Order: sequence, then C-alpha cells, then structure tokens
Amino acid sequence: MAKKLPKVDVVIVGVGWGGGIIASELTKQGLNVVGLERGKERKTEDYFMVHDELRYALRYELMQDLSKETITFRSKTSVRALPMRSYGSFLLGTGLGGAGVHWNGHTFRFLPYDFEIRSKTVERYGEKKIPADMTIQDWGITYDQLEPYFDKFERMAGISGEENPLAGKRSKPYPTPPMKKMPSMKMFEEAAKKKNWHPYMLPSANLSEAYTNPDGISRAACQYCGFCERFGCEYGAKADPVVTVIPVAQKTGKFEIRTHSQVRRILHTGNKATGVLYTDVTTGEEIEQPADIVVLTSYVFNNTRLLLLSKLGRPYDPNTGKGVIGKNYAYQVIRGGATGFFEDREFNYYAGAGALGIVLDDFNGDNFDHKDLKFIHGASISHTMTGQRPIQTNPVPQGTPSWGKDFKAASLKYINRTLSVGAQGASMPFRHHFLDLDPTYKDVFGDPLIRITFDFEEQDRQLAAFTAERCGELLQEMGASKVEVNGKLGPYDIVPYQSTHNTGGVIMGASPDTSAVNNYLQMWDAENVFVVGASAFGHNSGYNPTGTMGALSYRCAEGILKYHKSGGGMVV
Ligand SMILES: Cc1cc2nc3c(=O)[nH]c(=O)nc-3n(C[C@H](O)[C@H](O)[C@H](O)COP(=O)(O)OP(=O)(O)OC[C@H]3O[C@@H](n4cnc5c(N)ncnc54)[C@H](O)[C@@H]3O)c2cc1C
Ligand code: SF4
Repeated sequence: MAKKLPKVDVVIVGVGWGGGIIASELTKQGLNVVGLERGKERKTEDYFMVHDELRYALRYELMQDLSKETITFRSKTSVRALPMRSYGSFLLGTGLGGAGVHWNGHTFRFLPYDFEIRSKTVERYGEKKIPADMTIQDWGITYDQLEPYFDKFERMAGISGEENPLAGKRSKPYPTPPMKKMPSMKMFEEAAKKKNWHPYMLPSANLSEAYTNPDGISRAACQYCGFCERFGCEYGAKADPVVTVIPVAQKTGKFEIRTHSQVRRILHTGNKATGVLYTDVTTGEEIEQPADIVVLTSYVFNNTRLLLLSKLGRPYDPNTGKGVIGKNYAYQVIRGGATGFFEDREFNYYAGAGALGIVLDDFNGDNFDHKDLKFIHGASISHTMTGQRPIQTNPVPQGTPSWGKDFKAASLKYINRTLSVGAQGASMPFRHHFLDLDPTYKDVFGDPLIRITFDFEEQDRQLAAFTAERCGELLQEMGASKVEVNGKLGPYDIVPYQSTHNTGGVIMGASPDTSAVNNYLQMWDAENVFVVGASAFGHNSGYNPTGTMGALSYRCAEGILKYHKSGGGMVV
C-alpha cells in the first residue's frame, strides 16, 4: 500500500528546463509546487576543474542510466523492436536540470512557417505537395502569438545573438550581444555573403558578457573553455535550469524538490487527475502525491509513456490514424553536411563553446522555392566551434587508413586543418512513425518501455543531398583545398550519435480530434493535466528545439495560472 502525502496545488514530473520554468512561474504567483525528479541533485560546484572527456562525453556521466530504463527501437511495424542498451543516436538527460545541464545552448526560435506548416505549404504549392502519409498539421498557434514567450525565455536565459533577417519578427533585440566571431566564422560569413546568402551569429545560451536577468539572477561570461556539450558549466555561464529558474522557484519557499523520485503513474478518476504515484528509488517505497494539477515535464519519451501507462488520453493507432498519444514522432536529418580540408591554413580549434557558431537560413523552412524539389521544409546551415576534444575529434580525409602509421600522420596533419559546415534538417511526421509501449521489454520496475517506430523517408534523403551540396559550395568558397560532401542518407541507424532532438508524441493543435493538448499544453482529455516539452511539436524543424520548447513552457505556465484561477475548465 503506497504512503499517501498531503495534497499540493501542483505536482511536476521531472525538473529540467520544462519543470524549472513551470515551477518558477507558478511559485512566483503563490502556488505550492512539488517537483519529482528521478535523478540526483546537481550544482555548479560539481564541475569545478573537471574537464574530463572520458567521464562526461564518452561514459555519459550526466545521462540516464540505460541499464535501468531505456527505449526500444524498430524501423517498421513488421520487425521486433530491440532496446537501446548503450548510447548512440541521441542522449537522455537525468537529474536536477535534466538535459539542460549538458546541452550546448543553441537557442533558436522556430520559423513562422513551422507553426502553420500545412496551411502555408498548401497555400504556396497546393495539396499535392504533401505526400498522403505525411501527417503535418498546423500547431494551433502562430509565431506572432508565441513571440512574447520566446522573448521571455531569451531574457531569462540571457541569450547572446544578433538579428536574423530570414526569421520571424522580434519585438526586442537579444538581451546580450553575439559571441566572439572566430577567424573560420569570418570566412564562412564572407563566403556566404558572396553567394548572396544571409549569415548571422548563432543565438547562444553561453553568455557573451556578464548578465543579470529579470529575476535578478546574475551569471558570468563564457570562458570559451570548449568542454560544454555533454558537460556542466563550471562558471555558471551556460544558462541551465539549475543556475536560472530553479533557484527563483526555491527562493519563494513554495517549491519542494524531491530527487530520486521516479514517477510511475498519473492517478486519475475518469478524466480528472488526482495526483501521481512514485517510487523513492533509494528505499523502494511507493508514495502517492495528490495534487490539483499534474504537469508532465519528463521529456518526449516519458511524457508519452506515462500517459500510456496511466491509460490517460487516446492512444494513437497507426492503422486507422486515429488517437493522439504517441502520434507524430519525428527526429532530425543531420547527414547533409560537408567537410573541408585546408592544406595551407591552420585553425585554433581548442577554444570553443557549446553554442559558438555562424548560421544561415536561406535553405530553411520555406525561405526558398520548393516547386521543383521533392521535399518540403529545409535545414539551418552552420559552422560551429565547440572545442576540439582530444579523444573524439580526429578528422582525416576519406581513403586514409583507419589504423597505423599513415592514419597517425594524417591525424596530426589535419587536426587543425579541417572545418565542417553542417546542416540541421527538419523531420516531417509520417503516419507510420510513432511511439507506443513495448510489449516485451520492461524497465527496472517492471513497467513497459517506450517503443519508437521510425525510419528516414525519401523526403529526408532528398533534403540531405540538397543541403550537403550547399555546405560543399560554402567550403569551396571558403578556400578549402579538398571538400567532402556527405549527403548520402541511408536507413536510420540508432548507433552513431546524430541529434538529441526528438519531438512529438503529445502534440498540440486546434482540435481534440488531431491533437493531444491545446495551445496552452492542456490535455483535451484531462483538463487538469498539462504536458510540457518537445512532445508538443507536430513536426521537427531545421533548428535545435529548446528555444521553442522554453517559449511553450512559459505559455503553459500562464495557462495553468488561468486554470487555477478559474477553478476548472479548458483555458482555450
Ligand atoms: C548533448 C546534448 C546537447 C544538446 N544541445 C542542445 C542545444 O544546443 N540546443 C537545444 O535547443 N537543445 C539541445 N539539446 C536538447 C535539450 O537539452 C532539450 O531540448 C531540453 O533539455 C529538454 O528539456 P525538458 O525539460 O523537456 O527535458 P529534460 O531536460 O530531459 O528533463 C526531463 C527531466 O525529467 C526527469 N524524468 C523523466 N522521467 C521521469 C519520471 N518518470 N519521474 C521523475 N522524473 C522523470 C528526467 O530525469 C529529467 O531530469 C541537447 C541535448 C543533449 C543531450
Ligand atoms: S564553453 Fe562557456 S558556457 Fe560552455 S562550459 Fe565552457 S565556459 Fe561554460
């Protein structure tokens, strides 16, 4: 029999960016909030003087323990899914701050096109442009409606950046100036301008200068230490939930965080949640936390999984296309880039930051004509300098032996003579790409794992080939002696790392028939359950997701406050 605790106003499942933002916004308005986080406590001091690539980047110190809980994957419904037993394609965060602690900090706003993707595609190219099984739909919100929330997220995090001429209109400039422009980034800029493209400095959560945010949180400037992606920041310069929103919530005295608390079910009577059931993983004790409002902020996979395990909402059925929980899983197309080798030039690659780079959007969204192309949407194209990590970075031209004297000579020669230009390609949802519960594999508690059914489509192959050509052209213009274009996209392979940008499963929209949550992320089928994260995205864009996910979190917090004030009902 589970121990039952006193009721609180709100219980949050997972304390990453989503959970931290919701907690700070609700506690500032006087609500009592409990945050249940399955991982451990984290603080900036944990990272003092530990630039240890093996520990963090290769042995995944900050990531979810896959021996206890993982995902299963299959490429299509006719094959059996197998569990991801070691990290590959994407990494999963755990612990206070979630993946927000070890992210890079690329902080984009999705394009206006993204939010109205179906209407705008049909308007410009006609219905026929959208393949029959591509399930893109409008998000039930426009960029203009979301703009104030983007601004709120950027001000809280202190995003460093400059105007992007091809993006949606901004109400205010970025709160801090762009990061430093390294020599290779100047080369990218000049080359892009010669081609009449529109480069801009990557919007960065690494902080170009010391900054105090509207909540009174002060942080130091980035030191370009280069140990950023997959690491926590020892200076507190990288915006993460632990150094921004969580302390704001804690200061109110109304936020209680319980770490080592694995939520296993959402408890509900009919369509109204009554709280959650969780296990204290240090003792094995089962505990019931009653609450008026339940907020899922446990990332794409567990947001979907908890709803399916709890039998809340209508599960998606790929055969009929009906149901919504698990629908529109999407990933990203990262294999559309190019590498340039420079015989007569060396670069200092050791200084870098998680979100130091230069980007262009001339081939992103619908910023270019797709009339004669066999794909929709596109990719952001960028050159970044995240720091040359000695174990993992070893660029050599194709044809170099992979071992021995010649490999060593080429490695030493090219370590500082290689630049890459990458493309982050949008991923469209298809009827047969979805999430559901695995019938075979279970976690350490005996609960079914979430199962991914996904593969790359012809749309993705066409997109990768197209963007790789553009990346190659840029490197030629930048003066590379040799350019390798990497635009061949095979079947999706879960083994090599690609992108931790999973989306969908609990998507937002204007109608309960086609979406799981409304544009305040309130469940259509359970009015006191809000589901926050990239799980709400109807498709994945040509950018990193967290800027958009952060904006939606602020919007959701506003919705929860409205719901709480009105004492019930749908806020839309
Ligand atoms: C290496 C890396 C680099 C990245 N770089 C970028 C970038 O540059 N730009 C960008 O936009 N995005 C980036 N991302 C993605 C970004 O980190 C995520 O979009 C963001 O952190 C998601 O926030 P979230 O709050 O939705 O989920 P998370 O950060 O995953 O937080 C969810 C929390 O819920 C907890 N949880 C899950 N299940 C349960 C449960 N059952 N009970 C209790 N707690 C639970 C987890 O432990 C976790 O702490 C990167 C990700 C990785 C891994
Ligand atoms: S690169 Fe900058 S933001 Fe990233 S960890 Fe180092 S100091 Fe922090």
